[in-house]
Amino acid sequence: MGLLTKDVAIDLGTANTIIYVKGKGIVVREPSVVAIDRYTGKVVAVGNEANEMIGRTPENIIAVRPMKDGVIADFDITQSMIKHFIRQANVVNIFKPRVVVCIPSGITEVERRAVEEAVIQAGAKEVALIEEPMAAAMGAGLPVDKATGSMVVDIGGGTTEVAVLSMGGIVSSRSIRIAGDALDSAIINYLKKNIGINVGDKMAEKIKMAIGSAYEDNEEGTYDVRGRDVSTGLPRTVQIRESQIREAIMENIEEMIEAIKMTLEHTPPELAADVMEHGITLTGGGALIKGLDRLIAEVTKIPTTVAEYPLDCVAVGTGKSLDDIKSMLSKNRIR
Ligand code: ADP
Ligand code: MG
Repeated sequence: MGLLTKDVAIDLGTANTIIYVKGKGIVVREPSVVAIDRYTGKVVAVGNEANEMIGRTPENIIAVRPMKDGVIADFDITQSMIKHFIRQANVVNIFKPRVVVCIPSGITEVERRAVEEAVIQAGAKEVALIEEPMAAAMGAGLPVDKATGSMVVDIGGGTTEVAVLSMGGIVSSRSIRIAGDALDSAIINYLKKNIGINVGDKMAEKIKMAIGSAYEDNEEGTYDVRGRDVSTGLPRTVQIRESQIREAIMENIEEMIEAIKMTLEHTPPELAADVMEHGITLTGGGALIKGLDRLIAEVTKIPTTVAEYPLDCVAVGTGKSLDDIKSMLSKNRIR
């Protein structure tokens, strides 16, 4: 391929979209959010700019997250979003880029087609797909090509993907639609029911990032939560403790751990033994929940670590796969 055709990796996440250009690295990192004019259907803003508008827009502007549970919920908006980010990445000249996109392992053929189609429509010459757990593991530097089992748990916004990989393939995997967004919802419900205060999605996410934890330790933080009193309807600020948030999210955390256990149960014994020895690696933004690694290690009795840059693993791993883009495209060709 000539110098003018760029090879590009896209991590089309429910929460964040990351674009990686071969030879350059990550060039775009923005929330997967699009602001739309409700009446004209026009895109008003994309990414960070659209994200800032959530909850603060006049009534005619709505902020949409076009990816839901790891798949495209709104095709046209997703396509506009990808187009915008590809333009921002500056990879379209007179030649169109070749693109590898990662997709959750659990999605249907129709959902895969939709991703391919959206990327082509957004200006790609050719597109290949890579499964998210493989990309996450490659990005975390796990030895996926070796004849040894590696386990990766990628906790994003919409889905938690658990997989055991060996010799370049996924041996066993599980995808559950419980991840960062579900934790935010659990916090909203808890505060409403137990404290009598209504908070929005943004506040819930802030609380989670500030004092979300899965394991009790000596330094327990607090957070001043601003919301609206359920009975009076007036603004109110309440100090919330880390232990309360832990209680709020624990059921979801347990489901994630259950998915890990189930995946291990469906892994051949030799490979499961490899995982016991080499450990579990956590990626995705949800890996940053304080003490989650510790809790998983305690329950599963398997050493567990958070990847160095958990939010970037999938994009970096998809980027690494660009070295094999020719063979991936020939297997995967739709144009
Ligand atoms: P996706 O791949 O679905 O776009 P990401 O891997 O980008 O998701 O992770 C986004 C999720 O991670 C969001 O739910 C976000 O709230 C959560 N997250 C990001 N940083 C933290 C943090 N420090 N603590 C807890 N959760 C976090
Ligand atoms: Mg992701």
